[in-house]
Amino acid sequence: MPDLVGDRSRKAHLSLETSEPTSFGYGFISGLLAAIIGIAAFGIVLSLHFPQYLTHEKLRPLYSFAGLHRIVQAMLVASFLLGAASAFLRANKTLAVVGIGFTLAAAAIGGTPASVQGAAAGRSWLGLDFFVLNLLLYSAVFVPLERLFALRRHQPVFRRQWVVDLTYFFINSLLIEILTILTLRPAFILFGWARVGWVGESIGSLPLIVQVPALLLVADFTQYWVHRAFHALPFLWPFHAIHHSIEEMDWLAGSRLHLLDVIVTRGLTYVPIFVLGFSERALMVYVFIVAIQATFIHANVHWEFRSLRRFMATPAFHHWHHSAETEAIDKNFAVHTPVWDLLFGTYYLPDRWPAAYGLADRRAVPRRWVTQLIYPFRAR
Ligand SMILES: [Zn+2]
Ligand SMILES: [Zn+2]
Repeated sequence: MPDLVGDRSRKAHLSLETSEPTSFGYGFISGLLAAIIGIAAFGIVLSLHFPQYLTHEKLRPLYSFAGLHRIVQAMLVASFLLGAASAFLRANKTLAVVGIGFTLAAAAIGGTPASVQGAAAGRSWLGLDFFVLNLLLYSAVFVPLERLFALRRHQPVFRRQWVVDLTYFFINSLLIEILTILTLRPAFILFGWARVGWVGESIGSLPLIVQVPALLLVADFTQYWVHRAFHALPFLWPFHAIHHSIEEMDWLAGSRLHLLDVIVTRGLTYVPIFVLGFSERALMVYVFIVAIQATFIHANVHWEFRSLRRFMATPAFHHWHHSAETEAIDKNFAVHTPVWDLLFGTYYLPDRWPAAYGLADRRAVPRRWVTQLIYPFRAR
């Protein structure tokens, strides 16, 4: 039994920093699982109680699944037990408290209701269930991936400023419905006149295998110029500077985008897609690819994809976009493929990784979600 008296690091405490070991046996993995499963279970329970306010229409068919009730019960038990294990093994009780806290909160609001009226509920503006699904899927894929293939091995899961990035992840998922409307509607309303019947019909009827790559090229062309404008125009830069205030790269960091940056970039990128008449199925595949690739290129993984790197935007390509080194400033604007950067002279990819990320003036951008939301309006 180690002598715990006088060893401050072993005293029970709550902290948002990871100072104890994170390998198996130290209560970190159990704590992380407890927190993620606990938050997710609470989110599902809350969504089931208030489907009319909190659930995304496209996800509602999931609620008629008979086994959901049992899955949520299992999640609640799991997060409670994992939280208890973490509390026992780890001096820092934050993850355990989060896991057990959300489990108890889910139980306190009544657990899963006996009958779910989700399918019948009206349109809602928030997607709490979409956030839950994103949290579970992304963390299940990217947390182990970044542990196993880390570029920066000593960067913890809970690195500096993870709270602000999780807030972006939460809010941008929760507002999915509103953001979708704000990005798709303007094209419908303002550019309906630009659609030419036979063009749309021929493009929309092409096989998906042709449409999807074409759509990616078209989308990336627009995205390239909108992104470049955010860098070049002084009144737009403060909105995008938020994204460039990232100093440690990982899958979660990519979420740090000002709402106006998201709406303007996605909204304008959608205009040519809509005008050219790509099919809805091609659009769905594109939305899926953009979500995965935009997350992946920020990830803390060391894969370089040397043979593909002139065709596909890779983590190295986008890590250089975030580099603090002068020669990398205003380079690598694309999301899907470097061809537009190669063509317009902004391609930059040396055979090493950047030494540091972020803005030249590290104190320029504030460090909380709310202050970052207001910052661009005050910066002018
Ligand atoms: Zn940028
Ligand atoms: Zn980025």
